[in-house]
Amino acid sequence: MSEHWYDRPLRIAALQCDFEAGQTLEVADKWAGAGFNVEQLFHPMADSYSALFDIEHHAEILSDYLARAQQNNLRIILYLNVHILGPTLASHWEDWAQRAVDGSCPKQYETYYVCCVNSPWRDHFFSVIDSLATFDIDGVFLDGPIVISGGCFCPHCQARYTSKYGGDLVDGEHQSKFIGESLHEFLRESYSRFKQHKPDSIFYINLPITASQAKYLSPVDQLPYNDLVGNEGGFMFYEPPRDAYLWRSSITVKLLEALAPDKPRVNFMAADQKPWSWYIHTPAETRLCIASTVANGANIWYGLHGDSSLLDTPGGKAATELMRFLATHESYYVATRSAARVAVLYAYATDYQYRVSSETSDFYGDAAEKSELYSGNFTEALHGFCDVLSRSGIPYDLATDLDLTADRLAGYDCLLLPTCACLSDESVDAIREYVKNGGAIVSSHDTSLYTESGEARTDFALADVFGARYAGRIMPYKNFNYFSICSEHPLVDHIDIPLLPAPESVVDVTPAESANVLAKFHAVQAGRYVPLTEPARPAIIHNRFGSGHSLYLAGTFGEMCAHYAPPEYQQLLKNAVAYFSEKSVSLQGAIGNVEVSVRRQHKRLLIHLVNYAGLPPRPFTAIAPQRGLQLVLPDAGAIEAPRALVADQVCRYEVHGNAAIVNLPELRDYEVIVVEQP
Ligand SMILES: [Zn+2]
Repeated sequence: MSEHWYDRPLRIAALQCDFEAGQTLEVADKWAGAGFNVEQLFHPMADSYSALFDIEHHAEILSDYLARAQQNNLRIILYLNVHILGPTLASHWEDWAQRAVDGSCPKQYETYYVCCVNSPWRDHFFSVIDSLATFDIDGVFLDGPIVISGGCFCPHCQARYTSKYGGDLVDGEHQSKFIGESLHEFLRESYSRFKQHKPDSIFYINLPITASQAKYLSPVDQLPYNDLVGNEGGFMFYEPPRDAYLWRSSITVKLLEALAPDKPRVNFMAADQKPWSWYIHTPAETRLCIASTVANGANIWYGLHGDSSLLDTPGGKAATELMRFLATHESYYVATRSAARVAVLYAYATDYQYRVSSETSDFYGDAAEKSELYSGNFTEALHGFCDVLSRSGIPYDLATDLDLTADRLAGYDCLLLPTCACLSDESVDAIREYVKNGGAIVSSHDTSLYTESGEARTDFALADVFGARYAGRIMPYKNFNYFSICSEHPLVDHIDIPLLPAPESVVDVTPAESANVLAKFHAVQAGRYVPLTEPARPAIIHNRFGSGHSLYLAGTFGEMCAHYAPPEYQQLLKNAVAYFSEKSVSLQGAIGNVEVSVRRQHKRLLIHLVNYAGLPPRPFTAIAPQRGLQLVLPDAGAIEAPRALVADQVCRYEVHGNAAIVNLPELRDYEVIVVEQP
């Protein structure tokens, strides 16, 4: 990793509007006092809830603010809105706004027109970039660009399309490609212009990272224009929080790390509980979001959407308390790398082709529901598996199928494939090679049954690895059928009840002769109040392949974890990790819901624990402290006495050969255990 100022931990503050009543400069003092070291500067240029620098109106206040920030050792990244026309620019809407196919101009947030990167707005924006050359800013953040649902059909897009490709701009594949290219060219030009003026400054955008967010331009194509990669993983909760996914921030920053392991990463966290801009999160939710972000090696962006007095609310105070802790202990957050030995595959091929769910978002928009042809749901399966790992305190990474190789996977003892239905031949080859060389996979449902473009294969591409062939049908099992364990094996230990709930969708498979069928689905029952049926088809298959292992789960086990969370499913995955990954760090004695993240920093291991044992429903207002926890480090080697940073004490520990067992102080919401390995 090359050395830039932004490789150091960034604690970024933002105020996304201006209700400061003339106290603009004082905001910089507040941030510094609260432990922040960067401001993504918006409020002096606020145009209601938009901001775009205008040298004529903002030169003086920006210069004054930069001076004040410098006195506070606060770096300044200028916020530039590149997705809406704020009130000041709204009069240009007829020429600059995106238009739907019927000629209408849809509004974002029910309020603002959406600017088009192919309209003259583009030149206006480039002139803004050029006008920043003489200001001593540390970077710019582009909030956008976005594309309205269905794509833009404004006269500028139509003319550009015709001059590029000939013919008329119409809905379809070519239009998608055109939009992608338009976005790409806009970002490339913006980036190079800014870097010409300020080569050492930072440039980044509000990066879309899932298929539903990045409809026209893949996340990878946008990476060259992001010195820092960031996503709104901490904008919560648009929907009622009762059912909100616990690990939203964690998996967002894990995916950012998978996409760009060598770049700094940031989780954008709204201080407020969406969609109420002035309603700040509870202290418990605030601390959990920040802690799970930094625990996974990312920076935090904490944004207010009201006035700066919101910092004095209980939630605001919780944020600043944790920010000051992070400032005091900054050295433990510099240039760390995940040391997880387990990974979950984020299969982009599946994300783009298969059925997924998407959350409501302010910024990236809602995804259209994809084909109902498929029986599983990739998002839910991923969430289900990640939920089990997180709640079980198993450290894990996300890996992606972008440029997947056996070498890249070699650092992991175990790779989970949750309904990774669509996989390219190259990805399949990499996974096969990884297992052959001694790796282990845990796959569910129709993993590898489709090509990367979503076409059905006649059999699993990984059939030889699974030790199972596709028998030609996927069966609805509804929610009253069963499976049962039929073989003794460590992979199915501690599952001591006779009949287990079957997932709602089951793949009919034929096991290979060499494979070990550990559990069987019972034949489908006519209803739930009828006599039990007999075991009829394989449910769980263990297979040796080369020097490695496969555990294949023939149904929507991941989706089932997300919906019903059967404890036995959790046990099954815990068994798999224990069996395949003997060197994984584990947590003993917890009642559950402690996220464990292990990161390496030279000869130092940092084990972050984030305690999500909040009392339901969400939003959490209290977290149950956990006592008597032990951290097992199977491969610790020689270590010095571990220290707990939050409790500020040395931990008692025992050494057994190469392993160490560390006794932890009472865990409130967050702790970091520092293990020096001289
Ligand atoms: Zn347009």
